[in-house]
Amino acid sequence: MRAQPKASHFIDGEYVEDSSGTVIESIYPATGEVIARLHAATPAIVEKAIAAAKRAQPEWAAMSPTARGRILRRAAEIMREKNRELSELETLDTGKPIQETIVADPTSGADSLEFFGGVIASALNGDYIPLGQDFAYTKRVPLGVCVGIGAWNYPQQIACWKGAPALAAGNAMVFKPSENTPLGALKIAEILIEAGLPKGLFNVIQGDRTTGPLLVSHPDVAKVSLTGSVPTGKKVAGAAASELKHVTMELGGKSPLIVFDDADLESAIGGAMLGNFYSTGQVCSNGTRVFVQKTIKDAFLSRLKQRTEAIVIGDPMDEATQLGPMVSMEQRKKVFDYIEKGKAEGATLVTGGGVPNNVSGEGTYIQPTVFADVTDEMTIAREEIFGPVMCVLDFDDEAEVVARANATEFGLSAGVFTADLTRAHRVVDRLEAGTLWINTYNLCPVEIPFGGSKQSGFGRENSVAALNHYSELKTVYVGMGKVEAPY
Ligand code: NAD
Repeated sequence: MRAQPKASHFIDGEYVEDSSGTVIESIYPATGEVIARLHAATPAIVEKAIAAAKRAQPEWAAMSPTARGRILRRAAEIMREKNRELSELETLDTGKPIQETIVADPTSGADSLEFFGGVIASALNGDYIPLGQDFAYTKRVPLGVCVGIGAWNYPQQIACWKGAPALAAGNAMVFKPSENTPLGALKIAEILIEAGLPKGLFNVIQGDRTTGPLLVSHPDVAKVSLTGSVPTGKKVAGAAASELKHVTMELGGKSPLIVFDDADLESAIGGAMLGNFYSTGQVCSNGTRVFVQKTIKDAFLSRLKQRTEAIVIGDPMDEATQLGPMVSMEQRKKVFDYIEKGKAEGATLVTGGGVPNNVSGEGTYIQPTVFADVTDEMTIAREEIFGPVMCVLDFDDEAEVVARANATEFGLSAGVFTADLTRAHRVVDRLEAGTLWINTYNLCPVEIPFGGSKQSGFGRENSVAALNHYSELKTVYVGMGKVEAPY
């Protein structure tokens, strides 16, 4: 098998196997080929990983931030040196085209390690609070053992987006990738050891929805950071709350992308395509409700159709391929069911909706799909599809579109395309979302906070803000005089 790792788990600096765990087959979505066979973690593996993390964490937290950061920055360098190898693995894991993974996956993980490795030396300082003769000071301290649970759309990026700030702040992590994409995180663990990370600080264990709860409910775990769907988020946040653990929830969305009639049309169409078709539409922050002002609807749709039909679909390992398969047959079926609902509920199919004819029948391919005349009540306008399906809705004016854009339980992201900057700022101010873009879409550099509001989650990844979610405040009051007691 061409991507078989040495063993299923990486614990305490080495590969570990327990073949009594349920078999997880890793399937290359482009061909259906089984590329690795792994085992889900047994309770003994979960215990071993958490015990290693618990043992290693205090010494790591006691190191200077500069020394911790140096190791993370070295790991970033190694990731960049191995970018091609890691990108190919990411493509095998997910089916995403190499054209994307080579610029967006390991490199984004490396950015995270580099950023947190750099800022940590100055970002976790406390305050000095004068109190007359007395004074107080605060310090930010690590939480201890943190658990990361990943989705399958950006396996290496998610492992780094959680691992880098957690480690920088002095924590240890046990990371569980999605059962659909078990491979990439193991390489991140290997690279961190190669960079000099002490053993036990970044452990990877495999498993599915039955393994996650063992981690979340473990008494030695202080924090859980989940990237996943809203229903999973409710379960994980509920279980964590019952033990009063810290949580970060990066969940799903149904984000609005609003195109006013003064927008640069080509840019708006490009933004909408990137925000619906990149990673075969499997991006949480996608702008899947594209609101287009009626006056430009026809021009928008005809050029969108033309550009969508020119997308190169094919072998993900071919650098010319722009759109690969979906992550799994199950996910593709879910997307086809939504396409059928869209047709049945009266949306106009502009393009796509089927299987491309130039690809392997065993692959989980799907055509990039555009629906027009979508109305707010339709299922495809309300539920997260998580595939390459763009819904175009019409609107007349600003007040109307803002109200309709906000009429959703989700609040992950939003975007506005307009030449009127006053309007752009006014509209983003009124949109209910955690991350918003003006005249671009879906750019998430590590320097800016990323995360959702409403049911799309809470907590933030990336930027210095993420460090607050992997540490807590300790306040020390210092008495400088004698204690005056009334008794
Ligand atoms: P999912 O919710 O099915 O699974 C996510 C992870 O949670 C997996 O590792 C899974 O094994 C684990 N899990 C499932 N049930 C669990 C439980 N009860 N306890 C603990 N762990 C459990 O999501 P998915 O299908 O892998 O990913 C797609 C979803 O992720 C979409 O909704 C997408 O929007 C969301 N997502 C969000 C972000 C973000 O940053 N906001 C990024 C990527 C994906």
